[in-house]
Amino acid sequence: MKLDQFPQDIRAEILPRHKGRLVYRCLGCGGEHGIEKLLYICPDCGQVLLIHDLEFGHLKNTTGERWQRIFDYRRMLNEPALKGIYRYHEFIGPIIPLESVVYLGEGHTPLIEANSLLQQKVGMRFYFKNDGQNPSASFKDRGMASALSYIQYMLQSGRVSDVLAICASTGDTSAAAALYASYLSTRIKSAVLLPHKKVTPQQLAQPLGSGATVIEIPGVFDDCMKVVEVLSEHYNVALLNSKNAWRILGQESYAYEIAQDFEYDVGELAAILPIGNAGNMTAILSGFLKFYHAGVIRDLPKIIGVQSEHANPVFRYYLEPDAGKRRFEPVNVKPSVAQAAMIGNPVSMPRVIYLVERYNQIAGRQKVFFIEVKEQDIMDWEITANRNGHIACTHGGESLAGLVAARQRGILEKNDTAVIDSTAHAIKFAGFQEMYFEQRFPPEFEITPDPGLINAPVYIKPRGVKKIPEPGKPLQGEDFKKFVNRTAEEIAGFLNLKKI
Ligand SMILES: *Cc1c(COP(=O)(O)O)cnc(C)c1O
Ligand SMILES: [Zn+2]
Repeated sequence: MKLDQFPQDIRAEILPRHKGRLVYRCLGCGGEHGIEKLLYICPDCGQVLLIHDLEFGHLKNTTGERWQRIFDYRRMLNEPALKGIYRYHEFIGPIIPLESVVYLGEGHTPLIEANSLLQQKVGMRFYFKNDGQNPSASFKDRGMASALSYIQYMLQSGRVSDVLAICASTGDTSAAAALYASYLSTRIKSAVLLPHKKVTPQQLAQPLGSGATVIEIPGVFDDCMKVVEVLSEHYNVALLNSKNAWRILGQESYAYEIAQDFEYDVGELAAILPIGNAGNMTAILSGFLKFYHAGVIRDLPKIIGVQSEHANPVFRYYLEPDAGKRRFEPVNVKPSVAQAAMIGNPVSMPRVIYLVERYNQIAGRQKVFFIEVKEQDIMDWEITANRNGHIACTHGGESLAGLVAARQRGILEKNDTAVIDSTAHAIKFAGFQEMYFEQRFPPEFEITPDPGLINAPVYIKPRGVKKIPEPGKPLQGEDFKKFVNRTAEEIAGFLNLKKI
């Protein structure tokens, strides 16, 4: 729809006007720093940062109902810069001019309600939000769209030139970073650091295909992260991990979309997501809080973070009920099918601690919960979901297993509605499905495939047929007819088909 076709009273706000005044705010000392420079940690105390709009209060001059109308009308607007995460421009990056926005089709991923069979099995109403339907097939694109739009803005305003973007990755960050950086080639190049043999072949293929420099080092993700931290502190590179607060801003869109897709009525909702480096948890908490403060939503939904027993530092931290006694201890991770969340020392832990406390305080009761699940349950629930029309990755399976556990523990009630984050597309992690179906999980995963969920191809070669087709050697005439008819007969027998 064209701008002049929108109702007169809302037209002036369809294109964003609020410019905001963004600063990095330190979670350690509370210090504020200008955003003219890329900062990842506080120069004074070394803590992680979040981006704060000093003029956020201005957003309250518009009523919540009016914001809702603005976003709902923006759905119809044909302006590429506002088609993705920047539909919520005023909340995500008000200082980014529309000319600087990088839009590759991210965001607004579908909410798919589980069929009645699956809802019965789980014991409540729930939806999958398919973040695997983002351009690089994971939610990381939301954060990259924001980080790269900011870098493009810095390039266009002459504040930086010849950027080398760098990240450590469990696979999906590098796929997203390489994709978005390649769109801005030749002004920006990218290099990604991966733990050798700890990402799936699909995830390795993605940055290679986008033309990034791919570096593998020994160890696990936490080791890669330390190396890129040193690089970003001492060399002229742009860090694209979620330590970069611009990533968090973009990933807030996930919360805004849920609010909009449920008509801004989220009081009875629970958002369930896997936790790795905890950037996504940070963003979702922050997103719902910002919409709440601006009056766009009237209640805060429950948030449930899920971790595998094999990589559970956040879950362990919150096991201690007394906030004063909690102490964060990194864990040594064990192999996990939720490989993108196989992180023992999450970079965003201080952000999570800060936001969880605020969230529960503002909600007036505990609304954020942490759940631990078994590797076995992750695989069983992923496969069960996908046998019912979903495209969940292992982390989607992890979230679903978390929903089941939360229901059993009474965190969720029968009348709640859950939204499960399937953070990536199933095909990125098809190797784990293959290991399950072929019953060849190494023992350290602690997974025994359920025979009822195993699937395998059936090879049918017709008996009594001498000539069979081969590549480059097709059959002709009678031989071909015989082959086709005999094969059809055998398949009909195998499938128990009735003759018509
Ligand atoms: C990155 C990632 C996670 C973990 O998200 P964090 O923000 O690191 O907690 C989970 N699932 C998938 C598919 C991912 O790519
Ligand atoms: Zn500080």
